[in-house]
Amino acid sequence: MRRPSLKLLLPLAAVATLTTAAVTKPNQGFILFSVQQDIDLGAQVARQTDSLYRAKGQLLARSSNARAYQLLDGVVKRVLDNGNLKYRTQFPWDVQIIKDDATQNAFATPGGHIYVFSGLIKFLDNENQLAGVLGHEIAHADRRHSSQLIQKQYGIGLLTNIVLGNNPNQLVQLASGIGQLKFSRTYEVEADKYSTIYLNGTRYYACDGAAGFFIKAEKQGGGTPEFLSTHPNPGSRVTNIQKSAQQLGCTNRTVSNKNFEELKRIL
Ligand SMILES: [Zn+2]
Repeated sequence: MRRPSLKLLLPLAAVATLTTAAVTKPNQGFILFSVQQDIDLGAQVARQTDSLYRAKGQLLARSSNARAYQLLDGVVKRVLDNGNLKYRTQFPWDVQIIKDDATQNAFATPGGHIYVFSGLIKFLDNENQLAGVLGHEIAHADRRHSSQLIQKQYGIGLLTNIVLGNNPNQLVQLASGIGQLKFSRTYEVEADKYSTIYLNGTRYYACDGAAGFFIKAEKQGGGTPEFLSTHPNPGSRVTNIQKSAQQLGCTNRTVSNKNFEELKRIL
């Protein structure tokens, strides 16, 4: 049998390397999960997360908090409809409020289920900052950062079992830790950048909204917001966000805080 010549093999190897680089570079790792598996896992994790916070009496029901959800949904929808999301129509992008004034955090599960603590909303000064933080969280889900982190931590075999409903104990563990997932600095840089891109696309919010939150959070002595321990500063964070916003030419937009002040008041 003739051995394939080296000449033939080399281009194939080169193609393989290129393909790997193309997949690896933007996301810092292989994604073994399909988008559909993100959606399925997200649905399971969200159901479990809801029931964990409901059991603690902290999950604000939509039926009895209609106005709060109307106000928050308005901000979320504006940020989502920026035209730059990859999975705007595939992921459900629902949002839940967790009533916990002592926790200044927000998170999104793989597959796009968003959770916002009342403590974060009360901590923020204006709607623009809220839009910036939401943009950052939405980026972690839409760029599939959280999916990759979980895949690394749990392994594909175990996660597949969780998706199939075969491992309820691990699902509880996963849901309990989902708000404390610690992102890498590379993911943080990307989520900060996308927050500015998303806000630019809203044609409504000033794109450096997230910077306003980080400036305030970093200034705060003691009781550092939980957000900063799970989303570590990649270095020059505020400067980078402001620079990106300036490059996009969208730093001068002003938004009324009437709705935001009402949201803070009724939470
Ligand atoms: Zn982050």
